[in-house]
Amino acid sequence: MSIKVFNTMTRKKEDFVPRDAGKVGMYICGPTVYNFIHVGNARTYLSFDIIYRYLRYKGYAVTYVRNLTDVDDKIINKAREEGVSPEEIAERFIEGYWDDVKSMGLAEPTIEPKATEHIGEMIEIIERLIEKGHAYVVDGDVYFELDSFAEYGKLSHRSLDDMRAGERVEIDPRKRHPMDFALWKTAKPGEPAWDSPWGQGRPGWHIECTAMSLKYLGVNFDIHGGGRDLIFPHHENEVAQTEGYTGQPFAKYWLHGGMVNIGDEKMAKSVGNIVLVRELLQGTNANVLRLLALGTHYRSPIDFSPDKLVEAEAAYERFLNARRRIREALEAPSVTALAEKKALMDGLSADLKGAQEKFIESMDDDFNSAAAMAALFELVKEVNTFIEAYGQMTMDARELLEKVDALLVVLSGAVGLDLALPEAGDLADKLPDDVYRLASEVLAGAIDGMSKAELLDKILERRVEARKGKDWALADKIRDGLASAGIEIEDTPLGFRWKLKV
Ligand SMILES: [Zn+2]
Repeated sequence: MSIKVFNTMTRKKEDFVPRDAGKVGMYICGPTVYNFIHVGNARTYLSFDIIYRYLRYKGYAVTYVRNLTDVDDKIINKAREEGVSPEEIAERFIEGYWDDVKSMGLAEPTIEPKATEHIGEMIEIIERLIEKGHAYVVDGDVYFELDSFAEYGKLSHRSLDDMRAGERVEIDPRKRHPMDFALWKTAKPGEPAWDSPWGQGRPGWHIECTAMSLKYLGVNFDIHGGGRDLIFPHHENEVAQTEGYTGQPFAKYWLHGGMVNIGDEKMAKSVGNIVLVRELLQGTNANVLRLLALGTHYRSPIDFSPDKLVEAEAAYERFLNARRRIREALEAPSVTALAEKKALMDGLSADLKGAQEKFIESMDDDFNSAAAMAALFELVKEVNTFIEAYGQMTMDARELLEKVDALLVVLSGAVGLDLALPEAGDLADKLPDDVYRLASEVLAGAIDGMSKAELLDKILERRVEARKGKDWALADKIRDGLASAGIEIEDTPLGFRWKLKV
């Protein structure tokens, strides 16, 4: 079954048919590097990371281009404020951005071009636009002439008149139309500048994306995306200059992500309500942030609040706990088949198949991750109920549980969610030495040579046995011993979970 995507250009959900069978070219507008990214920016990158991963999961060979705008008025202004060079600002915030996207767990794009490394390509395009009558030169500046492109406004679905009424446009007598935009700007003293046929200058923002997307993806590539706030004027201008230049459609599908709001306002630097990714991730697991993004369709707005984070945290825990429960059930000794429990098996088999189908169906439907995740949560609920109702596992039941566990991991992974339980290796470093002492007190038999993580497993197993045998004194002793070692156990109706106290 094929994927459907909502195309901003046609305002319709369309069958996704790539230009070249089996391959996808995708261009996402990256950051202008003059500040650390905030949660609003992060959501856009996360949305397209989810789409990128899902397309690969579906078997497409995806060329994912996400650029860096490293020359821009905002960078120059910031440099002036701090009394340093624009290059220094760009370098600092590229490093910062790379740190942030790495800690967010974003997959690296195939190509991450810098605007400043594509000035030659931009000049070539601008020259051709002038030749074709789409652009004109005034005092070393080059402007795109809106009146030369009859379809201007087709992406944002606004007419030039609407736009003029809606935007405050500075009247510049040198421009033929007040909304003609700069392709090339004359450099003022001290600004970054490159040689061009029109004198020393630098490119405008919009032309950067045209040059870099065409260079790496060619004409009429598959997906052009970004945040909804880029539709106008950035993407509208990109369309005008690119199609003016090539005479062909720019991109097949335009995908735009919803904003992050706080209260009634969009999270934006200009509003002054931003939460930086690096601040957020100090206390929040990257998977929780991703789950927050996954829980809402990428085109819808997200209301960001501490409550939403707590919800996402609980949702993530629910996944991990289901995996812990499955593991526990698999570790318990198995019994021979019990015919009367076949109905339970059949039920879970059907749930498993249903969850997989619903997940794929939802993601295929314009990447509806909220519905896809709901299908996985449903499966989590069903598997918990199954383990509770089934009692000791038969071989068949174990096999089925393994399948459920694998499906949870694989489908979560298809959208970048990592459900890995802490591995013995990682944990061993973090566990306190008290575990040795407690092990020697409560475990019978040889414990020499076992790692702390292995011992902890044994201790937890011992506690489960003690509770089953109603040896409350031992169960409490283990619980208290773990607590004093900084390991907290919480008993829930569906079993126990533990964590290290921070
Ligand atoms: Zn762009």
